[in-house]
Amino acid sequence: MRLLVTNIQRFSLHDGPGIRTTVFLKGCTLHCPWCCNPENIIPQKQFFFRKEKCIAKDGFCKYGDCPFAFGRKVGESLSRLTEQNLLQCRSGALGEYGKWYEAVELKKKLISDKRFWGDTGGVTFSGGEPLCQMDALEEVLVALKKDGVNLCAETALFVSTETVEKAVCLFDEFYVDVKLLDDKRVRKILGGDLALYLKNLDIICHSGRHVYLRHPQIKGYTDDLETERAIQKLLIKYPEFQYQVLEEHHLGDEKYKTLGFCCD
Ligand code: SF4
Repeated sequence: MRLLVTNIQRFSLHDGPGIRTTVFLKGCTLHCPWCCNPENIIPQKQFFFRKEKCIAKDGFCKYGDCPFAFGRKVGESLSRLTEQNLLQCRSGALGEYGKWYEAVELKKKLISDKRFWGDTGGVTFSGGEPLCQMDALEEVLVALKKDGVNLCAETALFVSTETVEKAVCLFDEFYVDVKLLDDKRVRKILGGDLALYLKNLDIICHSGRHVYLRHPQIKGYTDDLETERAIQKLLIKYPEFQYQVLEEHHLGDEKYKTLGFCCD
């Protein structure tokens, strides 16, 4: 089986214990407006464009016909782009988010980092929602586990309970987002089902796995008193969970531009 990966990040220090290799998988079940990894939302490959690298002038490009030579909006040009344009362009302006890896190939690539992990590090799977690719991921996790690798998941938990039941048998630790806890707002703002999230949280709790709840504090979305109170209740219910607040940042802004979502 194969997995669609957007990035393999080495020497990660904030995605679990020790020094880690973090794998970003493509595909997510939510649509959080503040997402800083927009390239990981849809489960298919996506073209991107880096304006600062494009050399076209006055409708002409020496690499051949290309929608970007005509100065249209990025989103519109991306929708006209073909594989052929990608192959022709040698300026570095065009590329693709997402690369398919066979499970065996990915495991081999990851285990080659083992010497950097020391006694406490390992591999973290992030996204998007890494559990969206659970079927193929299982093969990689089982293989890494055989080599004694510590495995973490960064997840929002808006996936089926069957998936979570499988995940708790394979991962050692979970970094779980707690974004909003009001049913209507979860549905409207995130596009998720709160009851499913809470059920999945219970499954992880009963598995005895180490859990870190992480709250992204986003102005106007998740920083209200009602959410704070609901999180407080959750922490009382699950005293064994560790808790962390994530500050708002704009590291994803450039990626939105490359996908034509803003500021053409
Ligand atoms: S081929 Fe590359 S450099 Fe030429 S117009 Fe297209 S994106 Fe720009």
